[in-house]
Amino acid sequence: MTAFQADFQPTREAALALDAGDELAPYRDQFCLPQTDGQPVVYLCGHSLGLQPKIVREYIDEELQDWAMLGVEGHFNARRPWLSYHETLTAQTARLVGAKPAEVVVMNSLTVNMHLMLVSFYRPTPARFKILIEADAFPSDRYAAESHLKWHGYDPQDALLTLQPRPGEAAVRQEDIAALLRREGETIALIWLGGVNYYTGQVFDMADITAIGHAQGCVVGFDLAHAAGNIILQLHDWDVDCAVWCSYKYLNAGPGAAAGCFVHERYANRPDLPRLAGWWGHNKDTRFQMPADFDPIAGAEGWQISNPPIFQLAALRASMDLFDRAGMTRLRAKSERLTGYLDYLIRDRDLPGVTRITSDDPAQRGAQLSLHIKEHGRALHQRLTDAHIICDWREPDVIRVAPVPLYNTFVDVLTFANALEAAHREVLVSSLSSS
Ligand SMILES: *Cc1c(COP(=O)(O)O)cnc(C)c1O
Repeated sequence: MTAFQADFQPTREAALALDAGDELAPYRDQFCLPQTDGQPVVYLCGHSLGLQPKIVREYIDEELQDWAMLGVEGHFNARRPWLSYHETLTAQTARLVGAKPAEVVVMNSLTVNMHLMLVSFYRPTPARFKILIEADAFPSDRYAAESHLKWHGYDPQDALLTLQPRPGEAAVRQEDIAALLRREGETIALIWLGGVNYYTGQVFDMADITAIGHAQGCVVGFDLAHAAGNIILQLHDWDVDCAVWCSYKYLNAGPGAAAGCFVHERYANRPDLPRLAGWWGHNKDTRFQMPADFDPIAGAEGWQISNPPIFQLAALRASMDLFDRAGMTRLRAKSERLTGYLDYLIRDRDLPGVTRITSDDPAQRGAQLSLHIKEHGRALHQRLTDAHIICDWREPDVIRVAPVPLYNTFVDVLTFANALEAAHREVLVSSLSSS
């Protein structure tokens, strides 16, 4: 349960004092803050697209200059040679997700990486062929999982298992996951869940799910799109088999950013695993001898296919430098307070028909609260937008709000709560007068 926070008050003075006491507050100034109609917005959409770090321009410009000056020689002679550019991200990425350096690589985009992992880690047998996903999995994950089932000749009707919350509940209970795995685990080839559910904001107990899944003989992978840069991850210690994430949400690397991938070190030297191969995954010592036989690099890098997009990697590097400086431990501590303050204010306003579907337990949520809006949710969201608040609307009836610890303030959260209350009143009045 949310611990009582003595300094939480629903006033501007209190919010200002909370910001004044926040050691991470200076990071806000490292970001470009968007405007609408010349007015600064309150940006609470970092779960969808993170803001641009100001330094990104400089990092990308360095690569533009090197390309202009060096042409193809930039592969070897750029300030950060493009040939090994992705390696400049390895140590930071490993720290971010709790992995060993050889277990991570930045490449492609998220769904592409998911496909690459499914090729290697969904290995159905006649007795064990099912994939378990969340009932409200992100559509791309569902499509990808179904496409692999069909590719192997299975009907998703029989082979796609979904994790359902109990009737009337939004989150899936950990004991229900354990029960399902004990009941059906022997038929499940692959467990594939979001680390943080994109819709409800539920944080799954990845360590526990991995342990129970392994005990049942399942392979366990996670989509960390909403977890990377949001919550503390310990992928190696949790013994997760594989994971993927994107870098444009909490990681602030810009639209279409290069994504991440984790493969546990026990698979580092498994050239026998089926995989979709490309030259960038080939042994670096012999890659340019253009040999006919594919010899994968040991570790996650062996799953690379193409030479990577340097400008996207430059943007990610700029953001990862900020993450490294702020540190996930401090970010997570602030995040719990910031989301806690939002939760406190929503309770304080107690608006009829507005209910939080994200857990009230800080351990079971990240920087996001999903609010179920019983009636006129779209109109309510539109009024928030008109009031220069950027949060997002998810069909059929949910507003997602993400106070991001790197750049959001306690005043942002208070401004949102005030705007929500005003919008709620206006929508209610206009619906009464039109009926
Ligand atoms: C954002 C998100 C995606 C988006 O996939 P892309 O391949 O990056 O377009 C997929 N899955 C989940 C769970 C997401 O949250």
